[in-house]
Amino acid sequence: MDSKADAQRMEKIVSLCKRRGFIFQSSEIYGGLSGSWDYGPFGVELKRNLKNYWWRTMVHERDDVVGMDGSILMNRAVWKASGHEDTFTDPMVDCRSCKARLRADQLVEKNGIKQCPNCGGKDLTAPRAFNLMFKTFVGATEDESSLTYLRPETAQAIFVQFKNILEVSRKKLPFGIAQIGKAFRNEINPRNFTFRSREFEQMELEYFCRAEQGMELLEYWKEERLKFYESIGISRDKLHVKTVSDEERAFYSKGTYDIEYDFPFGRQELEGVAYRTDYDLSQHQKVSGKSLEYFDEETKQKFIPHVVEPSAGVDRTVLALICEAYSEDEAPDEKGKMEMRIVLRFHPRIAPIKCAVFPLLKNKEPLVAKAKKIVALLRPHMYVFYDETGAIGRRYRRQDEIGTPFGVTVDFETLGEKDPALRDTVTLRDRDSMKQERVPVQDLSSILVSRIS
Ligand code: ATP
Repeated sequence: MDSKADAQRMEKIVSLCKRRGFIFQSSEIYGGLSGSWDYGPFGVELKRNLKNYWWRTMVHERDDVVGMDGSILMNRAVWKASGHEDTFTDPMVDCRSCKARLRADQLVEKNGIKQCPNCGGKDLTAPRAFNLMFKTFVGATEDESSLTYLRPETAQAIFVQFKNILEVSRKKLPFGIAQIGKAFRNEINPRNFTFRSREFEQMELEYFCRAEQGMELLEYWKEERLKFYESIGISRDKLHVKTVSDEERAFYSKGTYDIEYDFPFGRQELEGVAYRTDYDLSQHQKVSGKSLEYFDEETKQKFIPHVVEPSAGVDRTVLALICEAYSEDEAPDEKGKMEMRIVLRFHPRIAPIKCAVFPLLKNKEPLVAKAKKIVALLRPHMYVFYDETGAIGRRYRRQDEIGTPFGVTVDFETLGEKDPALRDTVTLRDRDSMKQERVPVQDLSSILVSRIS
């Protein structure tokens, strides 16, 4: 696809997100706030389904991982020890011509001369380090003593609780601690819709191990994470693994992969999988003076575990899911004439709504009553949407646009009016093939549960 088509595709995606209630600009009625986004009724469902599925595969389906939920505000000492206070910076450059503030790595270079990507200006300041952490004050006084930061990553809460969790969970190496939560970075140039935001969510696992297992586990987690993306419907050929070079890698990391996705605006990072060695725990042990060592009962040795970290962005993955799912095809209208249809082809396990239930006609009480009964039957198992307004084709189309994989229609056959053999059966329509099958109401929940889990 050419770049113009990609840009158009992205525009359509952004507009669909707003029109159908996936993602809105934060504080929109006041002109918005750059780098902040709100998830609407369908966006929040998609996001929750993603987080729940991550939690299921990373915590519930494993014996070697437990979860935690740390606070966003932590003692400032954490950020001093981790190195964030001194080094969590981006080099920043100001363009003296158009006054834009830019990340040094986003300048364009023409004939060996760096230029402003906005105005082409060459009058740029020297790069200066800009700390990405948001400052805040705890308590009534606003001075150095009350200063702390909104966390720029969730990982540090895991490191500083390592000893408590080790004791309560009684896990043996290798084992992991998982967490999902908000992180904040005062990004110089938030852009590409939600891709680079100032407030976002991370899904992180810190997988503790012995030093000699580090490199092998780095490979293992890279593969596991690729499988995860495929299992939520992201095609393997749009995923790429970048080996982060020695120069780009954090100094304490012995190996890092970036898992990237082909967004319409280019190939960009979804997740980092990093072997962080024993750097974080060693730092916290050194600065806090508290032992963060692991005692190996077999060898009777004490040591600081190493760690491999798969760290994924919730918002970036949601955006990738929407980009991946967006498609346009043709479907017949009420009169059988083909018309363009927008369809989000979400994998059923992450689709915001799993099933829509429609009575064929809204003014036929027995149809409405039966449809509402089916809704009640399905609701304990999944998020169901009831819709009785408009022609049936229109109702399907509205669901296609938000990616609902299944549609159930209650018609006169369901009531047994045409053929007693069809009493208590409904049509089950598949979003992608648009094919309909007739299924007994009593089998509906088990059929659907098997397709969405
Ligand atoms: P980038 O190079 O894109 O700034 P990063 O390498 O700094 O990202 P990490 O510190 O490895 O990112 O964070 C892990 C994950 O958190 C990223 O892979 C991404 O999914 C997510 N993430 C990081 N920064 C942002 C952001 N500003 N907006 C949305 N998600 C983010």
